[in-house]
Amino acid sequence: SSTVHQIQSGQVIVDLCSVAKELVENSVDAGATAIEVRFKNQGLDCIEVQDNGSGIAPHNHESIALKHYTSKLSSYDDLSELQTFGFRGEALSSLCALSRFSIVTCTQQEAPRATRLEFETSGKLKSTSVVSGQRGTAVIVENLFHNLPVRRRELERNIKREWGKVINLLNQYACVQTGVKFTVSQQPTKGKRMILFSTKGNATTRENIINVFGVKTMNALITMHLKLELVPTTAGPLNKGKAPADGSTTEVRVVGHVSRPVHGEGRQTPDRQMFYVNGRPCGLPQFAKVFNEVYRSYNASQSPFIFADIRLDTHLYDVNVSPDKRTILLHDQGQMLDNLRESLIELFETQDV
Ligand code: ADP
Ligand code: MG
Repeated sequence: SSTVHQIQSGQVIVDLCSVAKELVENSVDAGATAIEVRFKNQGLDCIEVQDNGSGIAPHNHESIALKHYTSKLSSYDDLSELQTFGFRGEALSSLCALSRFSIVTCTQQEAPRATRLEFETSGKLKSTSVVSGQRGTAVIVENLFHNLPVRRRELERNIKREWGKVINLLNQYACVQTGVKFTVSQQPTKGKRMILFSTKGNATTRENIINVFGVKTMNALITMHLKLELVPTTAGPLNKGKAPADGSTTEVRVVGHVSRPVHGEGRQTPDRQMFYVNGRPCGLPQFAKVFNEVYRSYNASQSPFIFADIRLDTHLYDVNVSPDKRTILLHDQGQMLDNLRESLIELFETQDV
């Protein structure tokens, strides 16, 4: 029933962050090299994500917003190897149920004729019309939660905090996506559109951080290339299920940028902490704890700026534990953390502090 659909959708799309996250990840999955996120009235009126990705082929227009439709998974076996962000086919259908939802999309073959798609709350295609456009897709979410009055009032009441969170999340994507030119803009109800930040496509993470946080922040950072050697201790995933024998090790790398440890000085960098697993933004509180503890042994009064991408083999972790895929289970995390602590101390010791 439509009530059940609405309730389930409200569990996939819980706030502005989930809208931005789902749409940006779809654009990345579609191979976009430019992504523009446009807010109206901080997202309360509209969130639009426009990309220059593959576009949606006409034969998929009917099914694109139906529940569990996805083009990204052909069999269950694929799940563990999956490189794309999405795979559940729930985001677009949920957004249909919770907002005024439309898409403008165009593939290479159809350009410059794009199609505007409008949907019913069930995800059923309601109407199509031809408009002009280039290759890519714009997904337009207006009046989020308009049909869930309690949720809508909560969003309006907490808009300051929600806005901070969604901008942080977009900062996090913009910094890590070296192949994507990111632009984020906002237009107040009365007034003109302002660009909040933008990155260049084909950049390094260093250049991205400069464009998002400023050159002063970047100058206060040191670059990390930590190699953590993991020894398989039990018959587990590290060992592909076999008992340990030949003393072989697995390498996990932690790459990125972290505040230069400075004894006792004033604030150098914003205390933003961004963690990723193989380029996928996620919360890693245990890792954050190690970084903070080691850093505070140099400078007790501050927390460091952290941009850390944990690069490891896909069989060493499990991303499918929560629907928003922000939670990641790392196997043998204890060993990784011990190892990380030692490597960080070593890195900091080789700096002039
Ligand atoms: P999922 O990402 O889990 O597949 P979604 O509901 O997020 O599910 O999207 C459904 C489908 O719509 C995707 O599998 C993809 O084929 C298509 N799609 C969504 N956004 C885009 C986009 N920006 N560009 C091209 N195709 C898209
Ligand atoms: Mg998706």
